[in-house]
Amino acid sequence: MRQTDNILDRIAKQEIVLGDGGYLLELERRGWVDSGSGREKVGTGKGSGQFTPEVAIEHPDALRELHREFLNAGSEVLQALTFFGTREKLSRAGYGGQTEAINTAAVRIAREVAGNSALVAGSVSRTQLFEREGPSAAGHVRDLITEQIRLLADAEVDFLILETFFHLEEMLIAIECARVTSLPIVATMTFRPKLNECSDGHSPADCARAMVGAGAGAVGANCEQEPERMLAIIRAMRRTVSVPIAAQPAAFRTSDATPCFTRLPQFPDEMEGIQLPRSAFERFAARAKSEGIQFLGGCCGCNAPYIHAFSRGLAAPLESQAQ
Ligand SMILES: [Zn+2]
Repeated sequence: MRQTDNILDRIAKQEIVLGDGGYLLELERRGWVDSGSGREKVGTGKGSGQFTPEVAIEHPDALRELHREFLNAGSEVLQALTFFGTREKLSRAGYGGQTEAINTAAVRIAREVAGNSALVAGSVSRTQLFEREGPSAAGHVRDLITEQIRLLADAEVDFLILETFFHLEEMLIAIECARVTSLPIVATMTFRPKLNECSDGHSPADCARAMVGAGAGAVGANCEQEPERMLAIIRAMRRTVSVPIAAQPAAFRTSDATPCFTRLPQFPDEMEGIQLPRSAFERFAARAKSEGIQFLGGCCGCNAPYIHAFSRGLAAPLESQAQ
């Protein structure tokens, strides 16, 4: 077994760990993932849209290449592309019968690239059933996430990242499912359309407290906002809990009126117009340690040059950064 197998030990040892970026939007931009926008309105918040991870079995070389780019840019963690990889979501995209194959292939590809140079995380996201059906979906959600986590554990991921959950209730189900394994759990909520509460009305501080209480080893936020706008969420969590804080911001410019990119009219087909410059990521990384962030990665819109920018920012003292 490798010395570095536990992400929480590594965070404790080296203060901050650099993750990777966003896979689905980048692979969509490269032509390998279907956004679903040709068939339906994406970004309604009702669980429409495709953005499913079948690229792991249909175009594995494209996925492998993106992993290689992140590793080369300095990522110490590679996330297997298993986002939206529960059987029900894959079924809506026509891939339900390949649920095992997609999850298993995604972990295998990430592991091949990671070798002994990076940890491999299994990514588990919201099912979209809470958005579509409400809390009555809880039992079905539990079954779906239980199945996916079993596939990821069987494929031997090093830890789990539970991410992009809009409802705290669904996140807490996912943490419970994850605890059945002995894998370390990083849990990050996503705040849309408000910054100060999640979809079922809990503040960032309350989310952090509840996720830690349920058994997450690190907590934080990911997706929807650019780094500067995500800071308010991160600071509220940092003040509330003592476990490591994870931040994986998006690389798109949002507004005070709409602080979440998937509700902007540019999503998903005109994202180039709101792409954030890499310098914003470099500046954010330079202050990440002083903000108490201990797991830093990127989400949607963040490709390898943004991870390079994070690397530069982490290496540079804050004083030398132009503010
Ligand atoms: Zn994202």
